[in-house]
Amino acid sequence: MARYTGSQCRICRRETEKLFLKGDRCFTEKCAVERRQYPPGQHGQRRSKLSEYGIQLREKQKVRKMYGVLEKQFRNYFKSAEKKRGVTGEILLQLLETRLDNIVCRMGFAPNRNSARQLVNHGHFLVNGRKVNIPSFSVRVGDLVEVRESSRNLALIGDSLSGNEQKGVPAWIEMDFQNFKGKLLQIPSRDDIQLPAQEQLIVELYSK
Ligand code: SF4
Repeated sequence: MARYTGSQCRICRRETEKLFLKGDRCFTEKCAVERRQYPPGQHGQRRSKLSEYGIQLREKQKVRKMYGVLEKQFRNYFKSAEKKRGVTGEILLQLLETRLDNIVCRMGFAPNRNSARQLVNHGHFLVNGRKVNIPSFSVRVGDLVEVRESSRNLALIGDSLSGNEQKGVPAWIEMDFQNFKGKLLQIPSRDDIQLPAQEQLIVELYSK
């Protein structure tokens, strides 16, 4: 599956907002948004008023890039969300949150979603005892996600876990840090998903 391989900080600068795509660096003064608060490129410093469509488009791009999903796949998530009963925007976020790469990141096995995606791709995780190397794999309530025995000494996982053990994990996840495993306790509600996004703008955009 294709993926974006350019600069992560450029994505934040495009949205002129911190999207926390790099982990710890995002909380330091090295953050590119802190240093240059205007979009990248030759015309980045020009002022332009966004249309209603522009505002909706930017919100969609922001959420899509935060989860590292390409346009077609993102639209498919929206179509699935639309078919389910409930608030479409919230369901869309729930579908994105339960992707295996996001769960791995939320559990603290990786410093950011990009690294989580790579770790999953390289087959370092088991779901309910079976190897899964598909980042978009949908984790269900009660599923047990764990680091494979042979991958437990990876520095990236160890460093990330020790940092996250202190920070803690969301209430909808149960972690056993000692044994490199975690469980999805429930599908997070909108309030549980701490995401600086207005998902209704995405619904409006795709409903045109
Ligand atoms: Fe975004 Fe983090 Fe880069 Fe700052 S350091 S611009 S928050 S990815």
